[in-house]
Amino acid sequence: MPMSASPADPESSSAKKSGHGNLTLWILGGIVLALVTAFVAPHFAAKLELGGEIFLNLLKMIVVPLVITSVMSGIIGLGDVRKLGKPGAAAIGYYLCTTLLAVIVGILVVNVINPGAGLPDTEQVKMAMEQGAPEPKDANRPESVGELLRGLVMLLFTDNLLKSAAEVQLLPLIVFSIIFAAILTMHGSKSETLVKVIHQVNDALMDFVLLLMKIAPVGIFCLVAARFGEANAEGTLLAELKSVGKYMTAVLSGLAIHGFVTLPVILWVITRRNPYRFIIQMSKALLTALSTASSSATLPVTMESAIDEAKISPKSVEFVTPLGATINMDGTALYEAVAAIFIAQAFGISLDLTDQIVVAVTATLAAIGAAGIPEAGLVTMIIVLKAVNLPIEGIALILSVDWLLDRFRTTINVLGDAMGAAVVEKVLPAETEAEA
Ligand code: ASP
Repeated sequence: MPMSASPADPESSSAKKSGHGNLTLWILGGIVLALVTAFVAPHFAAKLELGGEIFLNLLKMIVVPLVITSVMSGIIGLGDVRKLGKPGAAAIGYYLCTTLLAVIVGILVVNVINPGAGLPDTEQVKMAMEQGAPEPKDANRPESVGELLRGLVMLLFTDNLLKSAAEVQLLPLIVFSIIFAAILTMHGSKSETLVKVIHQVNDALMDFVLLLMKIAPVGIFCLVAARFGEANAEGTLLAELKSVGKYMTAVLSGLAIHGFVTLPVILWVITRRNPYRFIIQMSKALLTALSTASSSATLPVTMESAIDEAKISPKSVEFVTPLGATINMDGTALYEAVAAIFIAQAFGISLDLTDQIVVAVTATLAAIGAAGIPEAGLVTMIIVLKAVNLPIEGIALILSVDWLLDRFRTTINVLGDAMGAAVVEKVLPAETEAEA
């Protein structure tokens, strides 16, 4: 049962969750079948795009209302916005520390593996230079670190809430929801009905997620088959994978260390939870992240798994995961650092310690600024390259496999958010924990 904070608890959770345990297996089966289909019949697989898009849109459709009602629910549950101080500081501290740790792991791994050195630098790099850098998808991309910082602050504030909602910019919606809910907590009985409505809408949206998860194996099958089918239909997938294999190894090893060592140690030290059981409990969300390459689209599933499977207090989940989906991106930060240093290696540019520190800091900021949508990290990486004067054309080297690596970094992003909710739960006010 999703929202225990709700005054109107519907039926028992066991009835609703029957068959839930097998769902992860169904999703896994869907992914395996999709990969087989994409390799055996790539053109057919590519045609499954429509099914994937329908599933993705159904997920995205509930993100905005869910963020608004869940953040409000969380604040109302705290009873007083002043109680937000400690968990708020804990969440921001956790986001920053884990992102920095991820970047450090990335920098170490890319220096050890040295993937750029193995490249036939003349041929490939020159070709990349000739082709020129790809046009960035985001015309408003910041040009310098100062602009990036200003942009980050301004991401919090909007002059038009409806426009932010329409563009799925979650941060201003979160700011609005916190202030609005804080006002409701001061109203007391005057706003009782509205508070009830918010809880009930939130509950209904979480049930919506449960319903969507029933079709997740099919949706995920279509998403994965279509993307891999499209890549394979061109017939160049294996050659591309081979040419940047070492770079991919560096990114994937870094992500694996962060996901299976760093984050688990933090979770265990702070919460004494078994981190690997936790990963299994979050598996539906992790597989959805792997299939959609979008933290935002995965958010409804992240919240559902964190509350229903990992049994984290709804208030912590409601508060930590929506914010985390937008600003806590360990995987993206790690990837940006690895990619930037890889490009430097490929171009034969050596980066000293100061440069590498600049890479670490800018990769952290660039990841915070990246939206939770597919390949957003590729756009904000331009900042990292510019900060240490690396050629932006280098992006052409990593472009062909970015869609694939994006899935893995998004999975780590989502894992970081879920673990953050478990960590912050520890510092929630005592009475809140008792209620949850
Ligand atoms: N796709 C990532 C996410 O949604 C962001 C990125 O690294 O491009 O979390």
